[in-house]
Amino acid sequence: MVLTPVLCPVCHHDNISKRGKTGNGKQRYLCQNPECSIKTFILDYDYNGYFPEVKNKIIDMAINGSGIRDTARILDISPTTVINELKKKNFVLSSFAKEGGLNGWRYMQKR
Ligand SMILES: [Zn+2]
Repeated sequence: MVLTPVLCPVCHHDNISKRGKTGNGKQRYLCQNPECSIKTFILDYDYNGYFPEVKNKIIDMAINGSGIRDTARILDISPTTVINELKKKNFVLSSFAKEGGLNGWRYMQKR
């Protein structure tokens, strides 16, 4: 068995304490860095694409005009994950587009 140090997924600080369990029995951790934007996180997401940070980056990159494949390669996740995540966000983002910003999201609505 290999012990890996627990690092905060947002600030990569290693001053982490345990903070209870999630509903499905996974260990929840608390980041002790006072400057960190995240309070608690779960370490053992099964896959990179499930990290909230990665999901946010998918959206950020799409807004900035990155292609599906570029996003997948840079974030080290599959293009399918990128597409699924963008589809899930489509409704919210298309309502933003109606307000006049985020022109890039017209691309999403063609689907
Ligand atoms: Zn942190």
